[in-house]
Amino acid sequence: MRYTNEINKRKTFAIISHPDAGKTTLTEKFLLFGGAIQTAGAVKSNKIKKHATSDFMEIERQRGISVATSVMSFEYKGVLINLLDTPGHKDFAEDTYRTLTAVDSVILVIDSVNGVEAQTRRLMEVCRMRDTPVIVFINKMDRDGKNRFDLLEEVEKELNIQLHPMTWPINSGKDFKGVYNLYDKNLVLFTANTKAVDEDDLIRFDRLDNSLLDEKLGEKDAMVLREDVELVDGVHGQLNVADYLQGKVAPVFFGSAINNFGVREMLDTFIRIAPVPRGRETSKRHLAADEDKFSGFVFKIHANLDPKHRDRIAFLRVCSGRFERNKYFHHVRLDKDVRFSNPYTFLARDKDVIEEAYPGDVVGLFDTGNFKIGDTLTEGEDFYFTGIPSFSPEIFKEVVNRDPMKTKQLEKGLLQLTDEGVAQLFTQFGGNKKIIGCVGELQFEVIQYRLLHEYGASVQFNAQPFYKACWITSKDAKKLDDFTRFKNANIAVDKDGFLVYLAQSEWFLNTERTNNPEIEFHFTSEIH
Ligand code: GDP
Repeated sequence: MRYTNEINKRKTFAIISHPDAGKTTLTEKFLLFGGAIQTAGAVKSNKIKKHATSDFMEIERQRGISVATSVMSFEYKGVLINLLDTPGHKDFAEDTYRTLTAVDSVILVIDSVNGVEAQTRRLMEVCRMRDTPVIVFINKMDRDGKNRFDLLEEVEKELNIQLHPMTWPINSGKDFKGVYNLYDKNLVLFTANTKAVDEDDLIRFDRLDNSLLDEKLGEKDAMVLREDVELVDGVHGQLNVADYLQGKVAPVFFGSAINNFGVREMLDTFIRIAPVPRGRETSKRHLAADEDKFSGFVFKIHANLDPKHRDRIAFLRVCSGRFERNKYFHHVRLDKDVRFSNPYTFLARDKDVIEEAYPGDVVGLFDTGNFKIGDTLTEGEDFYFTGIPSFSPEIFKEVVNRDPMKTKQLEKGLLQLTDEGVAQLFTQFGGNKKIIGCVGELQFEVIQYRLLHEYGASVQFNAQPFYKACWITSKDAKKLDDFTRFKNANIAVDKDGFLVYLAQSEWFLNTERTNNPEIEFHFTSEIH
């Protein structure tokens, strides 16, 4: 337990949202509070605006930026905060899901006008799988949004989580007057573009019947606020932090990210209640964050922007012990010892070489092809971290090599890109066709572009009539063998040699499941 002090100083989290809800804007405000950036506009959105060929160049350019913004570390009131960025575009959702395995909590941004959106639902599902603690920020209160009670009800119902309001808004849109902090019992009046650390605009109330409230808000709004607060307090009472930490209750804040309003209240609560780096499940045992020996896993791999250098950056989350520069660690999958002379940290704006890192920290490691997603480093013990998911893809295309002279390059490219988690690669039984499975169309364009520019391999894709890939297992080896032989054209192996059933339609899938009760169909394959 040598590093308990270091662990207790840290919080590692991600901001998640449906695109356009305000994730980038909120990130920027957090960094302003942390003093990591001086001016607004310094955080680049990593979102891809439209689905077009010109996006390729944009993706290339943004890959450079997003290495820098993949992890942002800053200090706020003595707490070291690691904020992990997640791509907004739904076609890259897998990357986001995996990043969520490397954080200890999340802040979910919801647009008060649009309410719960498609991506919000999916992201929350992933949080539920791991019981990740969630804080909700209801953004854009300066716009005419939904009724606050209706909105909370919608979020509770759609996301299947109990909410606990921590601040309460006074109107919205052009009548938005501010938020009342139910915990600190003070009122913050809305002014556009609030300065980062202005304490002046806080008006404290021990009791809400104070006539100052009428003076500040007008009698009508003051009355509504008193009624609302009574109602909300009556229903919710005090926040039960243990329930939040178990992912059962989500504290809610109202505000306007672009105006930096309501953000400080949330950040102050975040550093008070959000979990410090937690332990993790492994293939052998539960690993506690305060164990002395180092361990960590790779949750993201980023190709180098410069095509002349094929090296990549692997993002490693430290789970226990101390990571040290130039020290040998055990690469469990390859069963060999590796060390790193230039590990990156992501403090403030620049990437810096670091000497050491502690649980909760993310280290960027230069990689020449040794890593794939899910890889574990330890001080000698053999185990894997479990629960790093690989999701069932939904679009399938056969890879056709257009330049036989470049077969080797193509194979290498495909392996490396799939190691990065850009797509999944399946090899069909019998036919030996190579099939790529992705979650979104845009990923195919990225793969085609990158194969050509980074590996010199020219490919074309042929659409395949599959709708889902399910990993199949069975206790009955003979049944599994019969099934794979009988369904030959629909069977493939994934990159790690696991059997996969490619279903043409939901009907086929259901039929096979009914007809083959001894075979289990899995929709996510945990990489380990
Ligand atoms: P992201 O896609 O979730 O990262 O969203 P952005 O942070 O890029 O914001 C999307 C758009 O909403 C941008 O045009 C922002 O200026 C705008 N926006 C963000 N926060 C607010 C807010 O509080 N009020 C209003 N009216 N607009 C906002």
